Amino acid sequence: MALNWLTISRQALGQNIQAFRDHLSHQVALAVAVKGNAYGHGLMETARVFVEAGVDYLCVNAIYEARSLRKAGITSPILVMGYVPEERLNEIVELECDLVVYRLEILEALGRLKKVVNVHLKIETGNHRQGILMEDLPDFIEVIKACKNLKLRGISTHFSNVEEGEAGQNYADFQLKKFKKAIQMVDRSGLKPDFKHCANTAATVLIPGTHYNFVRVGIGAYGLWPSDKVKELADKSGKRMDLSPALSWRTRVAQLKVVEKGALIGYDCTYKMPTDGLIAVLPVGYYDGFPRALSNVGEVLIRGKRAPIRGRVCMNMLMVEVTGVRGVTVEDEVVLIGRQGKDEITVEELAAHCNTINYELVTRINERIERRLA
Ligand SMILES: *Cc1c(COP(=O)(O)O)cnc(C)c1O
Repeated sequence: MALNWLTISRQALGQNIQAFRDHLSHQVALAVAVKGNAYGHGLMETARVFVEAGVDYLCVNAIYEARSLRKAGITSPILVMGYVPEERLNEIVELECDLVVYRLEILEALGRLKKVVNVHLKIETGNHRQGILMEDLPDFIEVIKACKNLKLRGISTHFSNVEEGEAGQNYADFQLKKFKKAIQMVDRSGLKPDFKHCANTAATVLIPGTHYNFVRVGIGAYGLWPSDKVKELADKSGKRMDLSPALSWRTRVAQLKVVEKGALIGYDCTYKMPTDGLIAVLPVGYYDGFPRALSNVGEVLIRGKRAPIRGRVCMNMLMVEVTGVRGVTVEDEVVLIGRQGKDEITVEELAAHCNTINYELVTRINERIERRLA
């Protein structure tokens, strides 16, 4: 029996994909990002559900992810978005993936492979991550024109801060203007990319002008919002979308113990019992991806009640106080993320305690923990 496990709701994933379909016009391809172990939801488990739900593309960061998908028999188009070393470009061909290209040497090396490769040029528009500088774009265009095996499948860029809502709007406009210039340059060259794409979840939800004919949705497909701000703006502006979180995380009570007033709980003796009480030991810790930053601040659900974390989260265990939780017993199911009874612990609640974002919290859930599709 598992010490702790994730449940991934097929229905929620399916509903989220449908919500994006309803939000987009028909001719827009829906690509879903499954990098970061599908945002912690489990690459293989989740990718299959997305494929069954009819997504048009899967986006990964690296070759090993593409290889796992192909090994499992997934034949959907795959876009590799991250760094691929030059000596491994043959694997892009072997695995029949599209590749995001942002360096000229890589494009030239692909040109020498003499096998058809789908490339997506990535334009630098202000994020200053991967991207081709506008003044270098003509060189890329020339190479594509010269190499018959290179197929310009897409032209793309990536936004910096649509998540910030109004505060990010000006910068998104600035980036979009630059992107449009790049598109013009490609159009004038006579090349015809099949897809133009720049929208992540936040832009897909809030800025229809970023959809073109392809969007790259990540966090939203899992039922999580890129930020509170995006949800708030979507609700206000009539672009409301119903997203259902697909992931829940559970464990069980491994031990219950009565502790006396003044007892010190856990490493570093950071919590002192103000009264006599009852402590439950849970078999989950920071090794599993349950952040140590939740020490003395996070809560879990047991018997539908909130039980506060007492003391430090350990590597493989943590302690919560269940004084006053009626009927609590050893082996009781405990919710770390998700619903129990009338209450819910959200990823965002935990992320806020840790001063981070929901993206980081879910992607850090240890890969070896069982993901159960339900
Ligand atoms: C991860 C990623 C996305 C998806 O972003 P979300 O904010 O999760 O929707 C889109 N494009 C690129 C290039 C990415 O790396």
